[in-house]
Amino acid sequence: MEPFHMPLTVSCPSCGRRLVRVAQSDLQDFAICPACLAAGPYDDVMDDPAALTVGYALPAAVKDFVCRLEGQ
Ligand SMILES: [Zn+2]
Repeated sequence: MEPFHMPLTVSCPSCGRRLVRVAQSDLQDFAICPACLAAGPYDDVMDDPAALTVGYALPAAVKDFVCRLEGQ
């Protein structure tokens, strides 16, 4: 299944881009910056945007999906 994504109102602390939420049925939801790929578990980032981590180890499928979003 192709992951689902939704823009968020939270901005990336590093580069100021709006984060996107990426949800996939068999994985937890992530909040991800499409520009620098800083990311974190969605619930953690919504509680505290400082939970966003540069270089977060995203599953490859999620990372590829966000890279394709950015390429559109
Ligand atoms: Zn960023």
